[in-house]
Amino acid sequence: MTTTVGVLALQGDVREHVAALTAVGARGVPVRRTSELDAVDALVLPGGESTTIDKLLRAFDLFGPVQQRLRDGMPAYGSCAGMILLADRVLDGTADQQTLGGLDVTVRRNAFGRQVDSFETDLSIEGIEGEPVHAVFIRAPWVEQVGPAARVLGRVEGGHAAGRIVAVRQGPLLVTSFHPEVTGDTRVHRLFVEMVRGDR
Ligand code: GLN
Repeated sequence: MTTTVGVLALQGDVREHVAALTAVGARGVPVRRTSELDAVDALVLPGGESTTIDKLLRAFDLFGPVQQRLRDGMPAYGSCAGMILLADRVLDGTADQQTLGGLDVTVRRNAFGRQVDSFETDLSIEGIEGEPVHAVFIRAPWVEQVGPAARVLGRVEGGHAAGRIVAVRQGPLLVTSFHPEVTGDTRVHRLFVEMVRGDR
């Protein structure tokens, strides 16, 4: 049976995520309305600006429905701003910023600092075999604190941010601070689709 994975299509790298999902054998479809949400097995929350996506989720009447699907156990993968949206707690958010939540972590927005808004590095991710993952960070958050149910899958390995947590899984939820959709390496999407299928 085909696994249908929605990509929240309010802002961000929607096409790139759809392409990566297709490349690993899932059916990737944009989600902009509840009828589209109802038709998916799982959801990718792309990067962008978490405060803007938060507002757009409300404007499109999707905030409540997505949150309900998450509470009902829908698998979700959040990259960068998507990671912020899935986090239960946010540091350095705006005063009115809300998250969908579900993941028992505290994230810090724009954590890597002004001088290094964007950078790239190689790191290993638990559950991804072979060569290290080339991780592209764009004004990225990191995970500052992880609750008992969440499992750290990857950390920055060198430089000024060495040791910072940048990939976490909790049950059907997967998040990364970085953007795998821009590198052509589909292994993070493959891991997620295998999670959706219950193979991981
Ligand atoms: N800085 C953005 C935020 O706070 C995230 C950046 C991204 O998704 N590339 O939402």
